[in-house]
Amino acid sequence: MAVKRVYTFGNGEAEGKADMKNLLGGKGANLAEMNLIGVPVPPGFTITTDVCSEYNDLGRDKVLELLKSEIEESITKIEKLTQTNFGDKNNPLLVSVRSGARASMPGMMDTVLNLGLNEDSVAGIAKKSGNERFAWDSYRRFVQMYGDVVLGMKPVSKEEIDPFEKIMEDVKLEKGVDLDTDLDVNDLKELVVLFKEAVKEQTGQGFPESAWEQLWGAILAVFDSWNNDRAILYRRMEGIPDEWGTAVNVQAMVYGNMGDDSATGVAFTRDAGTGENMFNGEYLINAQGEDVVAGIRTPQQITKEGSIRWARLQDILEEDRVMMYPSLEEAMPEVFEELNAVQKKLEMHYKDMQDLEFTVQDKKLWLLQTRNGKRTGAAMVKIAMDLYREGIIDDKLALMRVEANKLDELLHPVFDMKAIGSANELAKGLPASPGAASGQIIFFADEANKYENTILVRIETSPEDLEGMLIAKGILTARGGMTSHAAVVARGMGKCCVSGAGALKIDYKERTLRIGSDIYREGDWISLNGSSGKVYAGQVKTRMPDLDGDFASIMDFASKYTRMSVRTNADTPKDAKVARGFGAEGIGLCRTEHMFFEGERIKTVREMILSSDEEGRRNALAKLLPYQKSDFEGILEAMQGFGVTIRLLDPPLHEFVPHTEAAQQEMAKEMGISLAEVKTKVSDLSEFNPMLGHRGCRLGNTYPEITEMQARAIVEAAIALKKRGVITKPEIMVPLIGTVEEFKMQSDIINKTAKTVFEETGDTIEYMVGTMIEIPRAALTADKVAEFAEFFSFGTNDLTQMTFGYSRDDANKFLPIYIEKGILKNDPFQVLDQTGVGQLVEMGTKKGRSAKPGLKVGICGEHGGEPSSVGFCNSVGMDYVSCSPYRVPIARVAAAQAHILSED
Ligand code: PEP
Ligand code: MG
Repeated sequence: MAVKRVYTFGNGEAEGKADMKNLLGGKGANLAEMNLIGVPVPPGFTITTDVCSEYNDLGRDKVLELLKSEIEESITKIEKLTQTNFGDKNNPLLVSVRSGARASMPGMMDTVLNLGLNEDSVAGIAKKSGNERFAWDSYRRFVQMYGDVVLGMKPVSKEEIDPFEKIMEDVKLEKGVDLDTDLDVNDLKELVVLFKEAVKEQTGQGFPESAWEQLWGAILAVFDSWNNDRAILYRRMEGIPDEWGTAVNVQAMVYGNMGDDSATGVAFTRDAGTGENMFNGEYLINAQGEDVVAGIRTPQQITKEGSIRWARLQDILEEDRVMMYPSLEEAMPEVFEELNAVQKKLEMHYKDMQDLEFTVQDKKLWLLQTRNGKRTGAAMVKIAMDLYREGIIDDKLALMRVEANKLDELLHPVFDMKAIGSANELAKGLPASPGAASGQIIFFADEANKYENTILVRIETSPEDLEGMLIAKGILTARGGMTSHAAVVARGMGKCCVSGAGALKIDYKERTLRIGSDIYREGDWISLNGSSGKVYAGQVKTRMPDLDGDFASIMDFASKYTRMSVRTNADTPKDAKVARGFGAEGIGLCRTEHMFFEGERIKTVREMILSSDEEGRRNALAKLLPYQKSDFEGILEAMQGFGVTIRLLDPPLHEFVPHTEAAQQEMAKEMGISLAEVKTKVSDLSEFNPMLGHRGCRLGNTYPEITEMQARAIVEAAIALKKRGVITKPEIMVPLIGTVEEFKMQSDIINKTAKTVFEETGDTIEYMVGTMIEIPRAALTADKVAEFAEFFSFGTNDLTQMTFGYSRDDANKFLPIYIEKGILKNDPFQVLDQTGVGQLVEMGTKKGRSAKPGLKVGICGEHGGEPSSVGFCNSVGMDYVSCSPYRVPIARVAAAQAHILSED
């Protein structure tokens, strides 16, 4: 059967449906679905995402040939439904051409509206609509969009605005008008001429007049936009694979700019910032799509309630509000009723918060898009729980609706209310994306790294600013509403954003921000409260957020559905307590070396290192013992009732000695030896490849007295706790073994030491001895190791280092380039490489359990808190994952989701 590349929809029929997102992209699949459930959608067709891959592989000419007949047939279908003709001069069909990937990538790729207009058909449209101004307004918009998107028009420098906007500003100034809507037909005609001249001048090309040439140009430009810088960056940010590609949606135009009975808008079925169950959105009378999101005109609210809130935020009186900002509910009550019914229907159908685009043409409502709306972490949790409480979804689905990584946003600080009370309020904008941010002002996205904490201040943001938005701590714009690009993208990132703060006067050339008579410059500190829309001078103090209510309920669902447990990597009682608060069930890795650095201890550690014989080392270790014992008591007590894995000393010893001359001098003084002696020792300890050198169990096997001291400290601590009624079962872990003999030698020392302590104290405790699996050889011989080891913990940091042969400490020199060039999809130190390293993990687990059925297996590398890696750990049958305290909630949700998916 011939490959089908184009799927049509219209008039209540569709060749696609909602579950064909992979092939039709989110937008295309939902346009088809909306047709099928009786929502009014202009007719059109979707070119599949597979064609995008074909385009990248085969090139433009081949793809045009493959598509030609299907596109021609599909255009004919639209012509029939709309009773128009594409390219016709009197009764032309005009279309929009939009991108639409599997996952929504708002504003990252390109769109062209009003395609099909030219010098002849503009007159036809004028005649047909009886509205010449509308025809020319549509034409100037088309030339502008096509010029930007297909012909590549760009601002000449970052201080300049879009060349078309600039021409428009000049014409408005010359005519003495403020708004685009105040320009008359002749002004618009003049604009079209000026725009086309600008195109010719910058690109050297004439503007295409043929509708078909325009259509092919736009389709290919949308495919090209899959690979523009911002789309690539967005994919990296969201983990969207490059090979997915975008679909292209071609749809008959409907017009929101046909006069005062026409409008266009964007709406959310619930509040995307807070999650509140409140239909909300923005619209503009007599305007086209981009006007609302680009933030060029300040949009009006859809509901009366929203309009009153907005007026309050802007300090506008009730009468002024009605005059200046009638909501859609007030301005077009019937249309609003219909829209309200549609939004309810769509939310019930998709069982999730929807983000809608609509156009009203001569009082007739059309839906142009519906998708699951981007939302903040807080909104994500509230919406999932509200839908659950409303009986629309069950607890499993509520849990699946949580994007584990996004929970991180909820753990970020919020402003301290007391500090806010005394802060100097500078301005008020819209609470576009909640959160608290303090930083130094910057005006250009590509300078977001200029200071450690920056606030990006823009008149409005554009998708070009994505990278800077990601780096900045917060975003402040002078223009744009709650659905502006800045607001939508910031909410998606969970980044604090205040938009539409009209009192800001921003001068990019001078790099200043004026508010009333005060001037703020680049580098000045300001603070944003994205929940109230307020902007403050200076740095406002923050505090940790409260994590109860809906967050706790989601965590309860996670506990209900998970198979694996989640432990934490913690070296101090304080970290252990934080992790307990987040629901960690035990410690998966306590790195004992971190305890060696505190206070006086480092001196004793150095004394041990400097000793030239065993006796000297034993003397120093005896001094360290009480410290270690009390550390272990603290940590075992903080986690009582749960397993605590304590790892023996791991890093190369040179990490404990100073490397600068000044510090070496100080050390010499402290130890009463000469600088030369210190230098000699430091140079003795230096290794060519310390990560592969004298570290891990190699230390304990060459200096058994270190292992002895640590084992004694652990056992004595557990016995001391037992005396106080605290029962613990420490799990003593040997690092970096490659052969079973290495492990056996260590476990013998541990067991012998424990026996001695039992005899000395006349008491016993239970303990286990196990090992890290972090050297490929250990994974390959895991069956042998498991004969002796009581548990395994995969150290995927070292395992990744040794499997790839990438130094953990040097990989940053090339990894970003590897990722950019597509050699690697992800940083393997962050996201477990399931294909390669994963094989060793899977094999190690299987082999281990073949020798010792029921062997306890976990992971304690950084990957233990990364959702896709946690999913992998679940699939190989691990008992637990262990991660840093603040990632515990993420790992709990990811573990439960993985288990739910594995059972489906
Ligand atoms: C590991 O290698 O994965 C590990 C947890 O140990 P460390 O990071 O301390 O080397
Ligand atoms: Mg390691």
